[in-house]
Amino acid sequence: MADPFAEGGLGELESPLYREALAQLDRVAALMGLDDNIHARLRVPQRSTIVTFPFRREGYFEVETVFAYRVQHVLAMGPTKGGIRYAPDVNLGEVAALAMLMTWKTSLVGLPFGGAKGGVRVDPTVLTRPEIQRLTRRYTAEMINVIGPDTDIPAPDMGTNEQVMAWIMDTYSQHVGHTEPGVVTGKPPELGGSVARREATGRGLVSLLPAAATHVGLTMEDARIVVHGFGNVGQYAALAAHEMGARVVAVSDVSGGVYNDAGLDIPKLQEWVAENGTLAGLPEVDTVTNDELFTLDCDILIPAAVGGVITVDNADDIKARIIAEGANGPTTLQADKILNERNIFTIPDILANAGGVTVSYFEWVQDLQNYFWSEGEIVARLREIMGRAFEEVLNISISEGYDMRTAALVKGIRRVAKAKLVRGVYP
Ligand code: GLU
Repeated sequence: MADPFAEGGLGELESPLYREALAQLDRVAALMGLDDNIHARLRVPQRSTIVTFPFRREGYFEVETVFAYRVQHVLAMGPTKGGIRYAPDVNLGEVAALAMLMTWKTSLVGLPFGGAKGGVRVDPTVLTRPEIQRLTRRYTAEMINVIGPDTDIPAPDMGTNEQVMAWIMDTYSQHVGHTEPGVVTGKPPELGGSVARREATGRGLVSLLPAAATHVGLTMEDARIVVHGFGNVGQYAALAAHEMGARVVAVSDVSGGVYNDAGLDIPKLQEWVAENGTLAGLPEVDTVTNDELFTLDCDILIPAAVGGVITVDNADDIKARIIAEGANGPTTLQADKILNERNIFTIPDILANAGGVTVSYFEWVQDLQNYFWSEGEIVARLREIMGRAFEEVLNISISEGYDMRTAALVKGIRRVAKAKLVRGVYP
């Protein structure tokens, strides 16, 4: 196979996460006997856009310049789809790796998209709301020919939210001269956003837990659950688990973790965070550090924040029997090996957190048709798609003898490979 990278390096895509994504693809390609030409093509993203742009800081006279990206991994499946993250360490390689993960994820659940991801290298926590608005509008203007309802549809990811999506939609609409809700998903419902999109990733993940619990011989009533992260994914995963009657014993955010052996009152935690910004200072709970959180005595661990948190340093000490990955790329390859050896049942990111992009797909369809569905319809279809994907991955895992992550990747990559083979090479 001809290597598009010069001398074994990854060139401009160099980053730890891209190395991991590539190693994962190479490993699975060998296992499944993937066509060499398709394999080589999938190792690199099809289109990457890098821009730098200025935005005004609060005092008007200070102007800051930032790097920003949008990477589209595979264009063969339909428009590309994936979130935009605002974080201080975003780089091209990381965005490209996340775009590749989106390709496998959308393929795995059968959505008509290829993978994409965007990012701005900035710390949104130190910016004011007007600063974030200016930054977002300029990012959108820079990407005006890159995104669009038929080409590439962004959504929220780490550091972005419904409001950011609303500004993207507005800026894009101003440029094209008419309102175009289908250009982004994860918008506020008033602008053509889908009901139940905000909760979708957490809810979708939790909808898989009963089947996973049955598989390992556990019941949800007895399960002790720990959630790392209390943002959009962690918060709604904790809430859905709580509503299901499971005991969420610990959750954490950037300020640290809170613990209650009898189970945390998740709606109360949400109220506290809405008022105080973080979990810090929450009464009537014990505190744990984010490091301690991973090794707490529990049955189900849900990493739902940043990537690269389950590593060789803590994989041996994890007590959970099930890990359901709400975050993208939370487990390093080496740690994954340890988890497999220890027989910990993993629902991998591209399956566990696919509920977000699934309801994003519903939102896009609703926007294109100007016909909106009820919450009941959306939740039922979400459950159906997630449940079927889980069952199919479990079947591949059992019948072909793979761990769940490998089985999910095999399923995702297979569909893309078939589509690319039948489309052929132009000209
Ligand atoms: N950022 C989310 C993800 O990683 C959602 C993407 C989307 O809805 O397009 O899956």
